[in-house]
Amino acid sequence: MTRTISDDAVRRLSGAIQIPTLSMLNYADTDFSAFDTFLQFLQDAFPLLHATLEREQVNTYGLVYIWRGTRPEREPILLMAHYDVVPAEDLAGEWKYPPFSGTVAEGRVWGRGTLDIKSQLIAHMEAVETLIRAGFTPERDIYFAYGHDEEISSGTNGATIIAALFKQRGLRFAGILDEGGLVVTGAIKGVRSPVALIGVSEKGHCNYEITVRGSGGHSSMPPKKTALGQAAELVTRIERHPLPARLTPTVLTMLQRVSVEMGGLTRFALQNTWLLGGLVKSLLANSAETNAMLRTTCAPTMARASDAENVLPQTATVNINVRLLAGDTIDSVAAHFRKLAGDMPVEIRPLSRTEASPVSPSSGEFYEQIEKLTQKWFPDAIVVPYLVMGGTDSRKYADSSDHIYRFTPIQVTNEEKNAIHNRDESISIENYAGMVHFFEALLESF
Ligand SMILES: [Zn+2]
Repeated sequence: MTRTISDDAVRRLSGAIQIPTLSMLNYADTDFSAFDTFLQFLQDAFPLLHATLEREQVNTYGLVYIWRGTRPEREPILLMAHYDVVPAEDLAGEWKYPPFSGTVAEGRVWGRGTLDIKSQLIAHMEAVETLIRAGFTPERDIYFAYGHDEEISSGTNGATIIAALFKQRGLRFAGILDEGGLVVTGAIKGVRSPVALIGVSEKGHCNYEITVRGSGGHSSMPPKKTALGQAAELVTRIERHPLPARLTPTVLTMLQRVSVEMGGLTRFALQNTWLLGGLVKSLLANSAETNAMLRTTCAPTMARASDAENVLPQTATVNINVRLLAGDTIDSVAAHFRKLAGDMPVEIRPLSRTEASPVSPSSGEFYEQIEKLTQKWFPDAIVVPYLVMGGTDSRKYADSSDHIYRFTPIQVTNEEKNAIHNRDESISIENYAGMVHFFEALLESF
C-alpha cells in the first residue's frame, strides 16, 4: 500500500492548519470568524465533494455531510472528527515552526490540529474527492459529522446537537468511526511491536466538589480537627481506598493479544486469568497507565479553606477528578466517598455528569472491516480493542449505534504522541498519506 500523496493534497492539509479555529475556555470568547473562514476553505478545497454531497450546518458551526448511496435501504455509516483545536499561544515561542503556519518541512506538516484532529477531517475529504473523481458511488449512505467544540466544551454545542438531530430523524448507523486510539510503540511495557488501539469504549468523567463544614473562629484556640484537617483526612482515605480493580473484557482481550511478546510470568498469568486474575491485577496496578485501565480513578486536584492565616475555616472544599470505568456510575462513586467520610459533616456534589460510555463489541462487520484494513496498513502491528482514557465526540451518538469505534490510522512515536496539546504538533506526510488511503479503502468497502 502506498504512502505517498500529491503536493496539492499536502497544501490542502497545510491550508486547514493555518486557520486558527480555537476552542476557548469560555465558549462566548470564541472567534467565530476563523470558523467561517474554515467552512469556506473546505468548499474551495474540495469542489467535487461539495457538488455531490448534501451539506448541513447544525447550530451554525456543526457540520454534517451526506453522501447518498445506491442502496439507501442499508444502514448508513458515520465518519467523524472535530475541527476545533486547543490554543497554542502560551507555547508559541517554543515551537520549532509557528503553530498556525502549517509549515511543510522535514517531510512533515507542522501545526495545531495536525494530530488532533483536522488531519482526520481533511483526510476524509481528500478520500471522498478522489473517489468521486474516479466515478465511485457508495452503496450505503455515508454520513460525516464534524463538531466545532470538542476540545473544551466537550461537544456541547456541536456533537451533542448533531447527535440529537440524528436521533430525532430516527437514524441508526451500522458503524461510527471517530478519532481515538492510534498505532503506538512502547506504550505497553515489554511489548516491542507496534500496537493498533481501536477504541471500543470511553471512560466517563466527573468532578466532585466535597465540602467539609467546620466551626470557624480564631486559630489561637483550634478544635481537635478543623474543617481543613478533616478534608485532608478524607483525601487520604480516598487515596488509600481506591475503587476495586476489574479486568473488563476489553482490557483482557487487549492484554492477551499483546501478551505473546511479554515476559514469561506476565504472559502466563494473562493467559490463565481464571487462576491468576489477582496476580494480573496487581501487576497492572503497578503502573499508572495500566492501573487506569483497571479501575475508576480518583485524583484530588484542588483544595481551598480559610482566606486568612489566623482564621479557622468555616468550610474546606476539595475537588476530586474522577474517571469512571464502565460498571461504576457517578452516583455509586458518590456513595463510595460518603462511606469513606463516615461521620464527617460533608456535602458531596458532582459538578458535571459524563458516565462511562457503553462498550461496543470487538466483533461484527464494521469492526472487522476496520481491523482488517488496519492489519493491512500496519502489517507489523498487533491490532487490539482499547479503552479510551480521554473523551471524544462519539460518545454523544450512543443512541444511534451499538458499533462506535475510535481510531485514527496513523503510527506515532511517543515523542509525536506527546506533542498533542503541546508544542511541535506535526504529522509526517507519509503518515498523512497512509491515512487518506486508509479512508479511501474504508469508504470503498461501503
Ligand atoms: Zn481531538
